[in-house]
Amino acid sequence: MWKRLFLSEEHEEIRRLVRQFAERELQPHAEEWEAQEFMPSDVLRRMGELGLLGLRYPAEYGGQGLDIFASIVVYEELARCRAAGPAAVAAVHAEIALPLILKFGTEAQRRRYLVPGLRGEKIACLAITEPDTGSDVAAIRTRAVRDGDGWVLDGAKTFISNGARADFAVVLARTSPEGGHRGLSHFIVEKGTPGFRVARQLKKAGQHSADTAELQFDQVRLPADALLGEENRGFYQTMWQFQTERLIAAAVDVGRARVALELAVAYAGTRQAFGGLLAEKQVIRHRIADMATRVETARRLLYTTAWEVKSGGQPAAAISMCKLVAANTALSVADDALQIHGGYGYMQEYPVQRLWRDARVSRIVAGTDEIMREIIGREVIGKGGRE
Ligand SMILES: Cc1cc2nc3c(=O)[nH]c(=O)nc-3n(C[C@H](O)[C@H](O)[C@H](O)COP(=O)(O)OP(=O)(O)OC[C@H]3O[C@@H](n4cnc5c(N)ncnc54)[C@H](O)[C@@H]3O)c2cc1C
Repeated sequence: MWKRLFLSEEHEEIRRLVRQFAERELQPHAEEWEAQEFMPSDVLRRMGELGLLGLRYPAEYGGQGLDIFASIVVYEELARCRAAGPAAVAAVHAEIALPLILKFGTEAQRRRYLVPGLRGEKIACLAITEPDTGSDVAAIRTRAVRDGDGWVLDGAKTFISNGARADFAVVLARTSPEGGHRGLSHFIVEKGTPGFRVARQLKKAGQHSADTAELQFDQVRLPADALLGEENRGFYQTMWQFQTERLIAAAVDVGRARVALELAVAYAGTRQAFGGLLAEKQVIRHRIADMATRVETARRLLYTTAWEVKSGGQPAAAISMCKLVAANTALSVADDALQIHGGYGYMQEYPVQRLWRDARVSRIVAGTDEIMREIIGREVIGKGGRE
């Protein structure tokens, strides 16, 4: 009922479309993609056809011109396919990397990357993290040095989602040795550019169907128009981008937690123990009540925060709270759902173990729990604890 405060009939139609897409077209392949440790990129082309990549982009680039709630609905529902790949790959592409091109790119960059990107024909990744630094973005060492009209890029990036499949990477590099966080800039580096290579695809504890890679840049020559946005403004551009990345990450986690809750309820409603159904035991009922309460709390926080964003705000502390709560909710609800399944929950043939493995990384990616607490703590203390 309360969701009607935020969602229109159009949002609900998108939800129905994505639910059907996830259950009919994606879920049948979940096991295969997880086993292969790769989801085919055709899935993004199909999402492009369905209009799911361009939800928040202007029509002139092939988008639908909708609001943040359209994206939230899509990423909540994609969890229904029971593999992390579709949500992770699409979110990194359409909600994390491409928004930087829309916001800071030139018209030529938008035409070159956004138009095919929103159709799912060219796939993007965003490369910030390096082997020696992740949370401390201002400490990155990959550097771009001016060379005539263009640039020469050198360095390495790690843990890059979509890194193995991307047609182009949006790369954060140091452009001023003395500048600290003021000396960083974004560059667009196309696959096939000499000196740019995927060093290796990484093996993860979960999220197997989403690719994650190390990228290497050795004397990569870039034209002047590879610079994205203003020189030395890359740190600020990244901080802008983190805000929607964290909201979308929260939507993925809320979706994952809802699926785990549904699986737990379904199992408790059929499993017999000590002469009755699990669902009839008060301990189980209370555990399910707690799980549902946590999901509802995370979801309401997500929707109210998204409303602030839709109204033009960038409430960094509220977004961090939302990301922190959703990540921990997804993990704890998946853990409880696994517990309710008993031994079956730990078996690979039951999807609940995958939700639990997949959820663990949410406390690390898009800003760790500790960094979320830093942002929240700074604001709360800065305001003397007042509203
Ligand atoms: C599956 C996966 C996908 C990813 N995808 C991408 C991607 O597409 N692009 C990209 O650029 N990066 C990506 N990352 C990287 C991710 O953003 C980083 O792992 C994350 O930001 C943390 O950085 P780190 O791993 O270097 O840990 P560190 O920053 O070294 O932190 C290690 C630990 O110390 C804590 N810590 C650090 N600083 C503080 C502090 N000041 N106070 C208290 N505690 C602190 C952290 O919270 C963490 O617990 C991905 C990571 C994974 C695992």
